[in-house]
Amino acid sequence: MKNQFSSILKTFKGGVHPPDEKHQTCDKPIQDFMDPQGDMIYPMQQHLGAPCRPIVKKGDSVLRDQIIGEPTGLGAYIYTSVSGTVKDVKPVLHPNGTKVLSVIIENDHQYHTLEKNIKPCSYKELTKEEILERIKLAGIVGMGGAGFPTHIKLNPAPDKKIEYVIMNGSECEPYLTSDYRVMLEDSWRVVNGLRIALSLFPEAKACIGIENNKPKAIETLQSYIQDEKDMEIVTLKTKYPQGGEKQLIYAVTGREVPSGGLPADVGCIVLNVDTVVAISRAVTQARPLQRRIVTVAGDCVKNPGNFRVRIGTSFQEVVDAAGGLVKKPSKIICGGPMMGMPVSTLEIPVIKTSSCILLLSEEKSILPEESACIRCGKCIEACPIHLQPYELNQLVLRRDWDAFARLHGTDCIECGSCSYVCPAKRHLTQTCKLGRKTIADLRKQAAAKGGKN
Ligand code: SF4
Ligand code: SF4
Repeated sequence: MKNQFSSILKTFKGGVHPPDEKHQTCDKPIQDFMDPQGDMIYPMQQHLGAPCRPIVKKGDSVLRDQIIGEPTGLGAYIYTSVSGTVKDVKPVLHPNGTKVLSVIIENDHQYHTLEKNIKPCSYKELTKEEILERIKLAGIVGMGGAGFPTHIKLNPAPDKKIEYVIMNGSECEPYLTSDYRVMLEDSWRVVNGLRIALSLFPEAKACIGIENNKPKAIETLQSYIQDEKDMEIVTLKTKYPQGGEKQLIYAVTGREVPSGGLPADVGCIVLNVDTVVAISRAVTQARPLQRRIVTVAGDCVKNPGNFRVRIGTSFQEVVDAAGGLVKKPSKIICGGPMMGMPVSTLEIPVIKTSSCILLLSEEKSILPEESACIRCGKCIEACPIHLQPYELNQLVLRRDWDAFARLHGTDCIECGSCSYVCPAKRHLTQTCKLGRKTIADLRKQAAAKGGKN
């Protein structure tokens, strides 16, 4: 994609410029793949928080838009996206690489839909509480990858004065274009969903952050908001990880979210593009979250593109819808190449947070051999959190978890920028991930024993 609007660009400090690789899919309209043939799999963990409790059992008949998983704490409802029969409720491989309790449904291909009491209407007919209730009931979570329940994000503590509702249209990960296509093709719902979120915060304005390599998205959304006094588009410099929550907030508002803090601490709420579309569908059309847009890309795919799919569809079927494989992938990634999760098989389901299925050949996914650090400092310059990745790498290799925490290693967002720029190809991101996970585990163990770590 070309860079434009270069005179008024906002950005953050640090970051890198990997090839964006969006040419494969950016000009291809979203295709519907809405009648999958195989069993549908609905993991009870599709959000940040505790897994849902399945409320159906083997042999039950279900209708589309029926609740099959209820939150047991922090979480969001899980709905069927087809009608049919519950074939089983058992642990199944999840995109996160673990086995997770899942409801398996045999699709009857009728798509009979559950009649509900909630009726479609304009958000203007609803109170704030009714809007939040519709969003909660729809099971909406952050669809950019984090999976944080949206009804909780949109209901911050009363002492948090929200001044900015920011839509994250940056889509800075290479290969991904699903948000871009949604901004072009579903612009009314994007603006309507953002308008609904904004209505919850009377003192706020809405900002749509879009990188300058997406001029068509900027022009299209600008035409939809030209009469909206409290909405503006903020053109961002194309740089990775521009779409990171803290980086986006800094670029748009100049505010820094403190270590361990939340966007609401600096008066901000950040929402993903597909999430605001889901808000629009939930509030205006009374529909739960049961479909999403997925980019299928990489040099192993015959016809890369963007697909509208039912949540629960297998990755394999979505890849088949893209024409299948032209060569054997050496790496399959759920998400983008920088922050995505490598997976070992395509026999896993699309969940609420599945933005991309990336299939890369060996030549595109070689992990180079590490050599000794040459103290060039490039990793420090690239780190958007202002950490010292080479130092954190050494601390993890020495298993010095206290020092890792003291140097704010737990603030790492695992963006991969340090590894990307390192001339010695040190595995900086991987060691930061290990450090963060180890400290989280140690803290959990300490909490279980009633102590502190
Ligand atoms: S240390 Fe973490 S946040 Fe900093 S560049 Fe590396 S992966 Fe990104
Ligand atoms: S970029 Fe690599 S070689 Fe340079 S200081 Fe960081 S770890 Fe060392």
